[in-house]
Formats: sequence, C-alpha cells, structure tokens
Amino acid sequence: MFCAFFLFLSLIVYSLYDPEYTVIKSLNFRRPLNICFSAMAFTLILVCLMITLAQWTDIKDSYKRLNNYYVNNMASFFDKYLSGYEDILREMARVAADQHKFSHIEETDLPLRNWLIERLRIMPDAVSIIHADDDGHFIRLPYTGALSKKNINWDPRQAAWFTIAVEDTEVAHYTINTDPFTGKEQVLTISLPIINGEDGSNDGVLALNLDVEKSEEILINSLPPMKSKTFLMSRRGKVIINPGHAIEPDTLKAIADHAREYRGDFYFNRHYYFYRAISPQGWFVVQQVAEHEMNQLVLHESIKVTYGMAFALVVLLFCWWASRAALNTIYMRIANGIRNGAIKPTAVEELLFDEIHSARLRQEQIEHDALTDGLTGLGNRRAFDHDIEEYNGQNNTHIAMIDIDNFKTVNDTWGHMTGDMVLKTTAEIGLRLRGLETITLYRYGGEEIAVLFKDVSIEKAQSYLEKWRITLNTRSFREKDLRVSFSAGLCKMGDSSVSEVIAQADKLLYQAKKTGKNKVLTG
Ligand code: GH3
Ligand code: MG
Ligand code: MG
Repeated sequence: MFCAFFLFLSLIVYSLYDPEYTVIKSLNFRRPLNICFSAMAFTLILVCLMITLAQWTDIKDSYKRLNNYYVNNMASFFDKYLSGYEDILREMARVAADQHKFSHIEETDLPLRNWLIERLRIMPDAVSIIHADDDGHFIRLPYTGALSKKNINWDPRQAAWFTIAVEDTEVAHYTINTDPFTGKEQVLTISLPIINGEDGSNDGVLALNLDVEKSEEILINSLPPMKSKTFLMSRRGKVIINPGHAIEPDTLKAIADHAREYRGDFYFNRHYYFYRAISPQGWFVVQQVAEHEMNQLVLHESIKVTYGMAFALVVLLFCWWASRAALNTIYMRIANGIRNGAIKPTAVEELLFDEIHSARLRQEQIEHDALTDGLTGLGNRRAFDHDIEEYNGQNNTHIAMIDIDNFKTVNDTWGHMTGDMVLKTTAEIGLRLRGLETITLYRYGGEEIAVLFKDVSIEKAQSYLEKWRITLNTRSFREKDLRVSFSAGLCKMGDSSVSEVIAQADKLLYQAKKTGKNKVLTG
C-alpha cells in the first residue's frame, strides 16, 4: 500500500519536472476551459442563491402584507355587519322610547309583538329580540309560548347583556350569551338601554341576539391568502367567535398584550399573528399562520428561481461539453495539419496556415540537406544511390564517373584548404556548364564526381564533359603553378544493373587514368 502510494507520488513529482509533460500541460486547452466554466457555474449558483435569499424575504413580506389586508378586510366587514344590526336596534330603541312602547309590558300585546316581529324579519342573522325591564318582566320574539312558561324562572336581570347595559347607558354592548329559549349554545347579543328623551327615564333594555354560527360561517368561508386560523377575540384575551380552532391560553394572552398596544403583526411560538380591531366593541379579528405553512408557501414561490438556475446550469454544462468537443476537434485538425501539411488556409486560421507552411519548408530544407553535399553543393552519395536506381530503368540515360587527377599532390603541395577550393571550383564549373540539359552532379566520394544524364545523347554528354575538362584545365588559380584536370569514364545506362553500370564507368575512368589522365573515355 505504502509502496503504491510512493510510486504514485513519484510519478506526479516526475511528471511535474518532466519537460515533455510541461509542454503538454501548456498545450492543454481543457484546464482554462474548465476553470472558465467552473467560474461561470459558481457565479451562477452564487447569484441564484443571493436572488433566492432576497426573494425569500420579499415574498415573505408580501405574504405578511396580504395577511394584513385580509384581517383588515375581515375587521371592516365585521364592523359593518355588526354596526348594521346595531343601527336597527338603536332605531328601534329610539322609536320605543318616543312611543313608550315598553312602559307596560304585556306578553299578549299583539301590536307590540307585530312591531317587533316586523323588525326581526329584516335582520336575517337575528335569532331573537328580547326586551327586559328592571322588574324582571320581559318579552321575547319569536314568541316561545309554553317554552317561555317553562323558563319562567329565568331572570333577564341576571344576564350579562342586561347588567352591562344598565351600568353603561351610553353605547351599545356586545356580549356572548347562552340563549335559554332556543337551546342554541351561544348567541351574540347587542344590548341597548331605552332612555326616554323627555324625562330621561329608563324603559328597560332592548337586546338583539345574533346567531354566532353565522359569524363563524363568515370566518370559515372567508378566503385567507394562505392556510390559517381566523377568530375574533376581546381585548382581555377572551375568544369571542372561533370556528373550532384550539387556541392556547398563553397565545391569547400574548395576542392581547400585543393588541392592547397595537404593536403590529408579530411572531410567537412558531406562529405568525395578524390582527385588526373591530370598532367600537373592542374586539379583534386575529389570523394565526403556522410558520411551516408560511415557509412552505414562500419556498414554493422562491423555488422557481432555482428551476431557472438548474436549467441555466444544464445549458452551461452543455456549452462546456460542446466547447470541449469543438476545441478537441480543432486541435486534432491543427495537429493533423502540422503533421501532413494538408490543412487548407481559411480566413480564420491564416496564422495557423503560415505556421504549417513554414514547418513544411523546414521539413523540405531538412530533406534537401540530407541529400546534398555540404562542401560542393552537389547531390551526395545517398541522392546518387537513389537517383541512379530511377535513371537506370529509363531510355537515353548515361553515367559518367570523374576523378580529379593527382589530387593528393594538390593537398600535399598547397594544403587541404586549397584542395577543398579545387573541389568546389571543379563542381561549380560542372554545374555552370549544364545549360538546359537534364544533367545531375553528385559527389560520389572524396574527389570523385558522378554525373547522370537524362534524355541527353552520348555525344552531347561527351562534349559537355570535354568542355568541363578543358575549362577546368585552362583555369588559372591564385596558387602559382596550380593546374587542375580530371579524368572521366562515360557510358550508357539501362542495359545492365546499377552496379555493373557503375563498374563500367569506373573501368573507363581507370583506363583514362592509365592512359595519361586529363581525358574523357566513352564506352
Ligand atoms: P589519381 O590521379 O590517380 O587519382 O591520384 P590522386 O592523388 O588523386 O589519388 P586518389 O584519387 O586516390 O586520391 C584521393 C585523395 O583525395 C585522398 C584524400 O587525401 C584526398 N581527399 C579526399 N577527399 C578530400 C576532401 O574533401 N578535401 C581534400 N582536400 N582532400 C580530399
Ligand atoms: Mg580518387
Ligand atoms: Mg584522384
């Protein structure tokens, strides 16, 4: 295990110090691309998170605003709803006081009953109207008959709506009571004392009982902006109308504390509370929103940005992949182009084309150098070996082998530098005299030169060699007494193998040497 780790580590260290690896690394386009796209993805995620966070608070605030509007609307609705009934009751109390309708209450007073029942009919949510006086007499509509008799022991003066109305005669009073006649659990009673305007005498209390269930229905059927509980409570923290929600006493106390000082909506015990007062009875419409409900809704709204971001990320990922693939292909083409020079120049890649072109020139130069003799500029032995194979298969081709006469003596007398100069001069004269003929010269080895003639007759070849020999021989050098000549053997090619052809030309050359040098022998 340790050995494997060490090997892995050494490989990394080696690759870092390996110059080849460094070059490959510098050519790697994937790394900057990956960095670039990673930076873009990171920025995208960061921006998205920031937007989501900003949206989270914005959406939460807007939902809080909506809840505030809702409780506001509910409060003004209840205000109008209750004050509508209160107005009718007040009007009834005024008329009753003016006309002394309740001065002597008689259960059998038919006109009074009709008067009351007519008013009851125009109030759809009213359960009953009761009038009671200080002596405990009362009249109730609708008429309860035997039922009222059964409850004959019921004393209206004990009822909260009566006592409060007698104590405070200024305003209408709202209380929740139990209606002993209907068996309905609870009724919402609006009570008003009947004060005679002329003498200020009190003609008892007029009470209107409203069906609490109707108010509960209003709350149930209302459409809050989100899942929540809405109920009515008093300033003292008592629940007034609550369609079946369980509210903790400490919650009610906390709401009452806040509401008394109008501190605005608040958060308590993992719930948000929104409230608004219903004037003038001093009640509150309260909306309770569970924190998780609010969060769920806000999350649902804010998540849309995340969907957008996820889509953008997918697009980015695709772009990254496409760029990698495209760049990979381009690099492959460039590499191939550099390798075989086959790339076509296009407007975009002109620079690359130039690079490839010059690389090709360099290649050609290398190839040229590999086939050229450095001193004379003639083809070298390798070029000769290659060309002679090609020439030997063709018609009308000739070969000549040339050897400079007494070259050792030149070297010995004037030195090797002069020997080199003589070699160069001989080659220069040979090259210059070729004219338009297809004649190729090679340095065969030492001071021997091979000549290949293509589509040149033997007479022309001979005359060329003669001209070359004479020119060289008559050439005077800076070195006094330096006279240079060569001997040559010329023969036809194509009839026998390459080695035989070379051997024949060599033979002729040897004969030329033997028979006095400075001559061209043709075979
Ligand atoms: P021959 O007339 O019979 O040809 O006599 P030679 O003196 O020319 O004899 P040979 O052809 O055998 O001599 C070749 C000499 O050429 C041997 C070597 O010192 C000399 N030589 C070969 N290559 C070079 C070269 O590149 N530069 C110089 N300066 N001398 C060379
Ligand atoms: Mg020689
Ligand atoms: Mg020689």
